[in-house]
Amino acid sequence: ADKAHTRNFSIIAHIDHGKSTLADRLIQLCGVVSERDFQDQMLDSLYLERERGITIKSQAITLPYTAADGEEYELNLIDTPGHVDFSYEVSRALASAEGVLLVVDASQGVEAQTLANLYMALEHDLEVVPVINKIDLISADVPEARRQISDELGLDGDEAVAVSAKTGENVPAVLEAVVRLLPAPTGDPAAPLQALIFDAQYDPYRGTVIFVRVMQGTLRQGQTIHFMHGGTDYRVEEVGVMQVKRIAKKELRAGQVGYVVAGVKTVADTNIGDTITDAERPAAEPLPGFREAKPVVFSSIYPVATDDYPDLADALEKLKLNDASLIYQKDSSQALGFGFRCGFLGLLHLEVVQERLEREFGLSLILTTPSVRYNIFLHDGTQLEIENPAYYPDPAGIDYCEEPFVRASILMPERYIGAVMPLCLDRRGENTNLNYPNPGRVELSVDLPLAEVIYDFYDKLKTVTQGYGSFDYEMIGYRRSDLVRLDILVNGEKVDALSMLVHSEKARPRALHAVNKLKDTIPRQQFKIAIQGAIGSKIIARSTVNAYRKDVTSKCYGGDVSRKRKLLEKQKAGKKRMKLVGNVPIPQKAFLAVLQSD
Ligand code: GDP
Ligand code: MG
Repeated sequence: ADKAHTRNFSIIAHIDHGKSTLADRLIQLCGVVSERDFQDQMLDSLYLERERGITIKSQAITLPYTAADGEEYELNLIDTPGHVDFSYEVSRALASAEGVLLVVDASQGVEAQTLANLYMALEHDLEVVPVINKIDLISADVPEARRQISDELGLDGDEAVAVSAKTGENVPAVLEAVVRLLPAPTGDPAAPLQALIFDAQYDPYRGTVIFVRVMQGTLRQGQTIHFMHGGTDYRVEEVGVMQVKRIAKKELRAGQVGYVVAGVKTVADTNIGDTITDAERPAAEPLPGFREAKPVVFSSIYPVATDDYPDLADALEKLKLNDASLIYQKDSSQALGFGFRCGFLGLLHLEVVQERLEREFGLSLILTTPSVRYNIFLHDGTQLEIENPAYYPDPAGIDYCEEPFVRASILMPERYIGAVMPLCLDRRGENTNLNYPNPGRVELSVDLPLAEVIYDFYDKLKTVTQGYGSFDYEMIGYRRSDLVRLDILVNGEKVDALSMLVHSEKARPRALHAVNKLKDTIPRQQFKIAIQGAIGSKIIARSTVNAYRKDVTSKCYGGDVSRKRKLLEKQKAGKKRMKLVGNVPIPQKAFLAVLQSD
């Protein structure tokens, strides 16, 4: 299609307002998938996303559309992930589009995320078309939704297209609005090539499939391309567009969205945000906005059963093929044996990896407390970067430490500020700043230690704002910090996997939390078990698991052998999932409990 007949757009919405359902309906309307093959929520290809209602990997789909005016259009729907961990991916997807559909649930109206999403779209200078969804609901209030779109978002509420993505009512009007209201892309197909990479996926047969938006020039089969940040060259094997399946084309011209296959082995060999140019006739400079995906959260992953280690290694290798931001290296623990130290983009990323390892690969895992990376300056002038408590140096040699800070932006209805402020201060927040972007809403800007954010800030924020608080952050660098290593001892023996690096102010609450959780989860033994939290040799928290006297089988009458045996077998099975520290068996759930905050 020529540029005038191309539209590139994304859909953004508060969670559950119907983004995925609307996407499905548009795909279906354009006849890209047959009714029979239609799988609900096509774009959320991972089951995890379906369950959590979030889209983790962005993807694009090209929809052929014949408009009311009889003209043929190529509509490229670019999907975006919906979580702060992936905000860079979102920004690259949005940079590939000219406009967005902003979905608002007719029964819920404008919500925090609606606003946060709108801001992001405006930051990328995108045209925004509001869509009011779920008009089939009895509780739908379309006039009120229009009013909120005008008053709270500053958009034209009368222009909003009111639809039911579920029944399909009026959804064709959305496609017309895309054609009529969103601008066509610009760019010169004859200029030196600049194509923005906004996603990459691993295909076992073709290697990495790279998703691009061609900004300038033309990308064609046989061309030698150059990754401007990566510095590598490849030969283009195939270009084309996605229509659920890949459809090969001769070329992709400025303004188009599609894929490139160029013998790139793993997803880690590409960088989202990088610019592809022509090796023979390169562009003068890459497209703006490139940022290297850098892990900020670290945790060690151990198999519960020691003999699962090779399977864990294998599973991580497979996940890595499709996830450039996952990094890992071998690690070992006295308590837990062999495992891997892994780096993640954020906590959600960590959870997604953990869930995939457990569900797709059938592994049972123990993760250590997530940590950030600290700078440690020693008296002798050396500087260390440490994210693993195991490598924390002798405190006597430490001059000072620094920890990473983020600038968080929290958007919420005004009524929640009284609950959010204390939360931020409790998390060692600094430089709070209030902004009133529109009536009734507050934007709180606050500098927070990343370590506090990854602990459980997001969950707590959701709780205190009843889901209305939206949260985004950017790294702002390192600041001085009073760091200590907290160790957990069980009967005097350090459980290395439970050690953590924490701010001295937080050491005692975290130690209390850990010893109490262990007390509740470590089964009683014939002897008393002392559980302690310590900084160096100083004990700062303690609890005790009392001795167990009774014989577990005494409850069963002497004659009932089978019942007795069953009980003993159950105990044995339970033991397999235990880790022995000294002479104390610690169950997997104890490790997990320490990880969880209250
Ligand atoms: P997303 O989180 O924005 O992707 O939202 P989904 O598309 O997953 O939709 C969230 C829920 O709303 C699902 O249970 C959908 O079936 C439902 N839903 C979506 N659109 C409509 C609609 O037009 N009417 C009704 N009644 N339900 C809808
Ligand atoms: Mg969805």
